[in-house]
Amino acid sequence: MSNQQLIPLSVPNIAGNEWKYVKDCLDTGWISSVGSYVTQFEQMVAQFAGAKYGVATVNGTSALHISLLLSGVKPDDYVILPNLTFVASANSIKYIGAEPILIDADPDYWQMDLDLLEEFLENETDEKNGELIYIQDGRRIAAIMPVHILGNMCDMDRFASIIKKYPLPVVEDATEALGTRYKGKHAGTFSPLGCFSFNGNKIISTGGGGVIVSDNEELAKKAKHITNTAKASADEYYHDEVGYNYRLVNILAAVGVAQMELLPAFIKRKKEAVAFYKKELAGVADIRFQKESPDVETNGWLFTIQTKHQQQLLDHLNANKILSRRFWMPMNKLPMYKDCPYIQKKDNADYIYNTCLSIPCSTSITDEQLEIVAKEVKLALS
Ligand SMILES: *Cc1c(COP(=O)(O)O)cnc(C)c1O
Repeated sequence: MSNQQLIPLSVPNIAGNEWKYVKDCLDTGWISSVGSYVTQFEQMVAQFAGAKYGVATVNGTSALHISLLLSGVKPDDYVILPNLTFVASANSIKYIGAEPILIDADPDYWQMDLDLLEEFLENETDEKNGELIYIQDGRRIAAIMPVHILGNMCDMDRFASIIKKYPLPVVEDATEALGTRYKGKHAGTFSPLGCFSFNGNKIISTGGGGVIVSDNEELAKKAKHITNTAKASADEYYHDEVGYNYRLVNILAAVGVAQMELLPAFIKRKKEAVAFYKKELAGVADIRFQKESPDVETNGWLFTIQTKHQQQLLDHLNANKILSRRFWMPMNKLPMYKDCPYIQKKDNADYIYNTCLSIPCSTSITDEQLEIVAKEVKLALS
């Protein structure tokens, strides 16, 4: 046991103009769902990602929910999803009354296994009247949601070439991937609608928040409309469909604008932490890192190592006030999703869950803290 301060896993870093912009909201009274920071935040995120439009939402989950709705997902449909993801991805499907078809993870990249996806689409689906059908029960497969897990990405060219043979709209869960690029193209822009999250542990945070990005003006307008209670008149309470109150308030968007100003520095710091850990921990015991394709530039969101001695390492780190966490429990292990179709051969998701640990990598982490973490990891496994 040491006397050192707790080293958190990944916490918000309030280091710029947050206070100033929030004070501006408070001073002017523009604290709620209308205000210039909302528009500014939407534009900053869209511009950073290289998309034409951005629509701010109350969180990443609501961004996913709305994107699925606008992609035409209906009750009783299926949506293809990696089994290894955070529960919000699956929940956004359930909110519509649809159900995920879970695909196992690739053992090296920990993203959706594209071999399994290809086999599944080829052997277990059929096309009827321009719609994709799951042969086993005749239900429609309405969309696919790749999740850029830990800010990494799968081979997106191969992904595109697999799904282009099928009527299968894509909604990207890029909630962990702000700052990640594949062949120079930003995550979230490989589908008509891409979703980001600004939850407390993400690379930048608004406390809670999300943004949908799109290059399609009509879809972006629809997203704005339906997240704004579908109010169709400026001066009357006329709503033309059941909308949602999913707006991000100005006061949080103000935090977001300040955080976006810091994003390049945050990405730089995440990459320094990744480089440091990789140098220090390479060859230590049986440690493996998440594989990265040379085509992918990751944002280094949450540094995660793989070892068979997971429990031993977890206990040692937490006893030494170094916060370390397992991966999310795979969706097929949760009561709501245990009966969903699960496409797998070796259940890599389970193996990853039982061997991986994320270690501290906040953008505010100091060099000294990085050294302490690396030292304790080595000690725990020696
Ligand atoms: C963070 C996250 C979300 C969205 O979470 P919110 O807390 O609603 O912003 C969705 N999917 C994944 C994979 C995430 O990590």
